[in-house]
Amino acid sequence: MADIDQITNLIKKEISSYNDKIETSDVGTVISVGDGVCTVYGLDKAMYGELLQFENNVYGMVLNLNEDSVGCVLLGKDTDIYEGDSVKLTGKVVSVPVGDKMMGRVVNALGAPIDGLGEIEADDYYPIEANAPSIMDRQSVSEPLETGIKAIDSMIPIGKGQRELIIGDRQTGKTAIAIDTIINQNGKDVICIYCAIGQKNSTIAQIVAKLKDHGAMDHTVIVNASASETAPMLYVAPYAATAIGEYWERRGKNVLIIYDDLSKHAVAYRAMSLLLKRSPGREAYPGDIFYLHSRLLERSCKLSDEKGGGSLTALPIVETQAGDISAYIPTNVISITDGQIFLTTDYFNAGQRPAVDSGLSVSRVGSAAQIKAMKSVASSLKIELANYNEMLDFSRFGSDLDATTKNILNHGAVLMEVLKQKQYSPLSMEDEVIDIYVAQSKKLDDVPLAQIQNVLQSVRSYLHSNHNEVYTSLKETKLLKDETKALIDEAVEAIKAGLER
Ligand code: ATP
Ligand code: MG
Repeated sequence: MADIDQITNLIKKEISSYNDKIETSDVGTVISVGDGVCTVYGLDKAMYGELLQFENNVYGMVLNLNEDSVGCVLLGKDTDIYEGDSVKLTGKVVSVPVGDKMMGRVVNALGAPIDGLGEIEADDYYPIEANAPSIMDRQSVSEPLETGIKAIDSMIPIGKGQRELIIGDRQTGKTAIAIDTIINQNGKDVICIYCAIGQKNSTIAQIVAKLKDHGAMDHTVIVNASASETAPMLYVAPYAATAIGEYWERRGKNVLIIYDDLSKHAVAYRAMSLLLKRSPGREAYPGDIFYLHSRLLERSCKLSDEKGGGSLTALPIVETQAGDISAYIPTNVISITDGQIFLTTDYFNAGQRPAVDSGLSVSRVGSAAQIKAMKSVASSLKIELANYNEMLDFSRFGSDLDATTKNILNHGAVLMEVLKQKQYSPLSMEDEVIDIYVAQSKKLDDVPLAQIQNVLQSVRSYLHSNHNEVYTSLKETKLLKDETKALIDEAVEAIKAGLER
């Protein structure tokens, strides 16, 4: 009997000490690795989104919490990692350096400099994922964020804190709109962040060069996760860029952030999810693809005055296939944003650049932020263009047109011409108001289309040298007064007289 008691005691003792031994651990072991994802055994305490440290100074991020393993993505090369390697929990989430020293720099998705200009001294580190400001911490959009592009500022105005999608097929001038908007922020105290996702490094080099040429790089940060990098880096990039922007937003500054583009971001996330063996859904995207973009874009807003009044304006870009805006990712992002600027290949190829389709483009909140002068001249623009397009289709069927129809067609063609604008030449709000006022005064309806850009240019320089008060009045009052209108009319007549001679 005593023997049995002894044995039971022994077993009990063994069991109690065995429990001590299997305490969960901070160190795990790599089970499998490849394609930028990795399965690790033994990290029972891992948190979702936690940073993992591998050997060889490679980091990873936890994305799958399975019963007996964790699935993670690698933020670096997977060729340095082998089965059996040890992995440490860091207790931290993935963070990026933030601060004023980031300005004018090109960084990767983890905030490390890639422009060869040396280390960046960070003021702080912000986690890449953050909660969106609550409703009480926000206020409605009230100030315009000027793009300097006539077609946008007049018909699809954007306000500070708004999220406006730029959507269109490939090569329709999506990036051009974003870059012009950054250039237009020169001297306007808006910090810009251009987040490139899955683009060629050579394209980014050109963009950086263009921004430098136009003096816009000092107020801009470029976050670049290029096509040559792994899917996890592409996935992290927009969140990191947003964290970098939030640093300034929380200090009361206005920040503009461009995600170019979220289609490639979604594709990277899909690749990652499939490798992590998450089940695919529509178009093989994982079930949480909507949340991927909603939690990103919800972070843009205008903060309340108590929170400093800073703002984060987002211009996400989405590429469509053959103009199909009802595909999965486009519809998702359209429903998350406050409107979209829709660019079409037809317009682009017909020389209508920027190729904005005014009928399918909308800004749901921006008009609250439009200045009165612009509102007064541009209010009927969209409807007139809609009429014009309708008539244009109709007129193709017959040649017998009545005078009213001819007038609508003629005026519409003039408006389309006025809305054309070259790349890298954003206009001031005053110039835009003048151009659109001139177009709407119908004084250009008898000018040959080929001359219109010329006339507008001449009117602006005429006013600059002869009646600069037009500009001062517009700038100070933000109204288009009758006496200002008279001066502009006079300028147009003078220039037109010069044409006829
Ligand atoms: P991708 O799908 O390749 O990213 P995208 O839609 O971003 O293309 P951009 O790269 O911005 O398009 O523009 C395509 C081409 O059209 C470029 O060569 C650019 O210089 C030209 N372009 C864009 N906007 C204008 C414009 N307003 N006037 C003249 N050329 C323009
Ligand atoms: Mg582009």
